[in-house]
Amino acid sequence: MLEKNNNILIIGAGLCGSLLALRLAQRDYNITLIEKRPDLRKTEQDAGRSINLALSDRGLRGLRLAGVEEKAKELCIPMLGRMIHDKEGNTFLSKYSGREDEYINSVSRPGLNMLLLDAVEAMPNVTIHFNLGCKTVDLEKGSATFKNYNTNEEVTFSGDVLLGTDGAGSMVRKSMFLHRKFLFSFSQEWLTHGYKEITIPATKDGGYRTDKSALHIWPRGEDMLIALPNLDGSFTVTLFLPYSNSDYCFDNLTTPEMVTEYFTKEYPDAVALMPNLVEEFFENPTGPLGTIKCAPWHSYGKTLILGDAAHAIVPFYGQGMNASFEDVVVFDEILDKHEGKADWNTIFSEYEKARKKDTDAIADLAVDNFHEMKEHTASPLFQAKRKLETAFEAQFPNKYYSKYSLVTFNEHITYYEALQRGRAQDKAILNLIADGKLPDTMALEEKLKLVIKETEDILHDD
Ligand code: FAD
Repeated sequence: MLEKNNNILIIGAGLCGSLLALRLAQRDYNITLIEKRPDLRKTEQDAGRSINLALSDRGLRGLRLAGVEEKAKELCIPMLGRMIHDKEGNTFLSKYSGREDEYINSVSRPGLNMLLLDAVEAMPNVTIHFNLGCKTVDLEKGSATFKNYNTNEEVTFSGDVLLGTDGAGSMVRKSMFLHRKFLFSFSQEWLTHGYKEITIPATKDGGYRTDKSALHIWPRGEDMLIALPNLDGSFTVTLFLPYSNSDYCFDNLTTPEMVTEYFTKEYPDAVALMPNLVEEFFENPTGPLGTIKCAPWHSYGKTLILGDAAHAIVPFYGQGMNASFEDVVVFDEILDKHEGKADWNTIFSEYEKARKKDTDAIADLAVDNFHEMKEHTASPLFQAKRKLETAFEAQFPNKYYSKYSLVTFNEHITYYEALQRGRAQDKAILNLIADGKLPDTMALEEKLKLVIKETEDILHDD
């Protein structure tokens, strides 16, 4: 039976683990939080590169629950839409929503992680250990053995329950996979693309070299560059490119000349903003992009995985962290319902039952958005659809939510519901535009009625 003073061992003090530790400490559990890396508040990591993420409503809800939303907002730069850059250097802003108060935020990953760690550390019922890498997990006992990277010694910790928030390469999940006493389903799908981060530095006086209130995209069919602003005036640029089998790919961009040729041809206006492009291209690592789905997420009423450990997704909806923070909200709701009445096994089962359908949905939506961002954002049909959707949202704010808005700004519907309705709406609008059924002469309200009717028909047929 779970009791208020149960000892909870959390492995992984990244974004999900830190928020989870904070919330569970606020609920009066005793928390031991263990992290493989050194304390990022004391040691520079990722070779000092600024890495940022898009934080939106679902993530903010998790931060709000733990009382740190306002502090997190101080680290945020609002991004109102996608600034699309064509090959000639022309730009076009496609707003994320027709409703004025709907935008996403660029936030520093280490900045947010540090804020959460500070909040966790301030709780009297939490102990944090750094430099301890989990090597093995005893799922039945809720214990794990760690290597201390300072002393090379092994140390074992146990809790009444063990929660694995150790990210996409989770050791806790691997233990579930290797443990043969229960059936564990696992799938990992890689994209043929990888990613690499490059910097647009601040100007000499600390200013921004391009508009900071947008997420910049250079869509080029197979490849894509995106850029998100940082508080110090710089932008973190991410290149998404195939590993192989393409005119330009990571496998053949092996010389400074090739890198310069590729970027000058595809992204001339961005090249002008990246003075250290070639050095950074060769210095910075290339990362893979994959989706991990698995089940069950829990075992023996002793162990549960959350965040990327349970559902790593590709980054194209900007929802991995947001989904991981939403995990904490859903887990908290289940605790509200059952605390003092049920055992941990019931809590873990209910949590997975409530959550799995939604994390599967956002995983699929993220892959959809990969294709939409690199191929379709520049197409006239897509732009006509977005224009219509933002007009619907501006004039009929309570009647229409685009798929993007349903996923990103509407925390009251689940990812699964957003997928169902969003896909049907997309199909309806694209069909109606392509069939010439939404002529310019038609009133906006009539267009909306037609789109809603077509959407309902599609949902009904499915
Ligand atoms: P992580 O952040 O990976 O944290 C896991 C922690 O566990 C780490 O601190 C790690 O050191 C620790 N750990 C790992 N193994 C061990 C071990 N054996 N023992 C002890 N500790 C261990 N999401 C968004 O919402 N918006 C975005 O814009 C966005 N952009 C992204 C861009 C890219 C290129 C990528 C790759 C991801 C992006 N994401 C984004 C996804 C987001 O980064 C993840 O979903 C999020 O970090 C998940 O949090 P987590 O705590 O579950 O995992």
